[in-house]
Amino acid sequence: MTDTLDHWVGGATWAGTSTRTGDVYNPALGTVQKQVRFASTADVASAVDIASAAAESWRDASISKRTAVMFAFRELLNERKDELAAILTAEHGKVISDALGEIARGMEVVEFACGLGHLTKGAYSENVSTGIDVYTLRQPLGVVGIISPFNFPAMVPLWFFSIAIAAGNAVILKPSEKDPTAANWLAALMTEAGLPDGVLNVVHGDKEAVDALLEHPDVRSISFVGSTPIAKYVYETATGHGKRVQALGGAKNHMLVLPDADLDLAADAAVNAGFGSAGERCMAISVVLAVDSIADELVAKVAERMGTLRTGDGTRGCDMGPLITKVHRDKVASYIDVAGADGADVVVDGRGVEIDGDPNGFWLGPTLIDKVPTSSTVYTDEIFGPVLSVVRVDGYEEGLGIINGSLYGNGTAIFTNDGGAARRFQREATVGMIGINVPIPVPVAYHSFGGWKASLFGDAKAYGPHGFEFFTAEKAVTSRWLDPSHGGLNLGFPQHD
Ligand code: NAD
Repeated sequence: MTDTLDHWVGGATWAGTSTRTGDVYNPALGTVQKQVRFASTADVASAVDIASAAAESWRDASISKRTAVMFAFRELLNERKDELAAILTAEHGKVISDALGEIARGMEVVEFACGLGHLTKGAYSENVSTGIDVYTLRQPLGVVGIISPFNFPAMVPLWFFSIAIAAGNAVILKPSEKDPTAANWLAALMTEAGLPDGVLNVVHGDKEAVDALLEHPDVRSISFVGSTPIAKYVYETATGHGKRVQALGGAKNHMLVLPDADLDLAADAAVNAGFGSAGERCMAISVVLAVDSIADELVAKVAERMGTLRTGDGTRGCDMGPLITKVHRDKVASYIDVAGADGADVVVDGRGVEIDGDPNGFWLGPTLIDKVPTSSTVYTDEIFGPVLSVVRVDGYEEGLGIINGSLYGNGTAIFTNDGGAARRFQREATVGMIGINVPIPVPVAYHSFGGWKASLFGDAKAYGPHGFEFFTAEKAVTSRWLDPSHGGLNLGFPQHD
């Protein structure tokens, strides 16, 4: 018998009424370690009722009370991050140091949310017409829905719920069913930090729970992160039900290396950004665009570095852990055969890697494929694993053309010592986040995160100023306090005097 993870609703664990469950694996062992409940439509509706009641009073909690909860949460999270990192490694597989990195980047957003007093301020215009003032208020939406992916089980929920709650909303979080425990852990910590019951609820499940959130009339907004087909579906369905939606999708991130770049820096960056978290990051570099004149040297430097990486159990100090499921591992590995068939060179084949871990884990070692044709699915698909492709280009223009021709536009990077080329690149690339000699340009919490094209549906990015705007509705107030000069009938459209 394995344990069953319940939902977290109204400040406590809750089993709900559905009998459906899913397996939660330890991907480094290849074994099921627990079951997670899958909510029914009725379970989601019950959670929304509880959240709606909590939202009514939380919206009236003073700014100082909300700030105090966020500060307390930040302190608890910092004290107990090792516990959370162990959960992430056990269910996702990422190595402990990477799990701590994920928590640090999520905590940054909590710190940003502590500034809610400044961030929810409106604007005031005095005397727009004689004796009349106009000002704006930013008010919480009510109940908001968050649907998160498997690859950042702590950071992505923190991106959204920290800001949503600081802004005065109540939340229903539906985390990935593949690594769901972190969400309950975070919700329990928020309760410990003083958050009233029902303000942060976690409902586990699959498509049924997601659809219930997308369609429920009392859920005012949806923040989604996941693959592009589901992001598009979520965007279309939830906007069709009248909701505000931000739906972040998949990616295929290119790194353009010009001949004047520092090739050692570029090779380090390609390896770090290509194989960190086994390539299961939406900001991973999956394609290196190498200019012909330096391509051989760059590929050799990357391959040499790959030989020093240790793949294995995330608790053993390895560089790279397993993939999330066996099905995903097999799919990622299948691209190595496709590469050969499509005429590419498999420089390093991760299927032969020596593992420091249980043989039943979902392993695939770092893989490098050179001379990938852009017509191959190795290039066009989001592989989402430790497979780094090299596409050779004749110069900046061809590289930029490939980047701008991509379906996705999440992140990209240029490696060069030419400031003029870098400046052109930041202006010309049709991508939402640009790195200049920085391979994973995830913006800090006080900027906002989001891609272009099929990497983001909707016009609100995650966290930063966009986050507070997304989770609040603006209201404009036009006010006149009577003075002796008022009065008189005038049926014309209001004009200023
Ligand atoms: P996914 O799309 O399979 O799942 C994301 C969420 O949607 C999960 O909560 C899942 O339960 C739910 N879901 C899955 N299928 C569904 C369906 N048919 N109907 C309704 N809901 C469904 O994504 P994943 O595999 O968990 O995560 C990896 C993907 O997320 C990659 O494509 C990656 O690029 C992307 N991602 C993007 C960003 C970003 O910021 N753009 C960040 C992280 C991950």
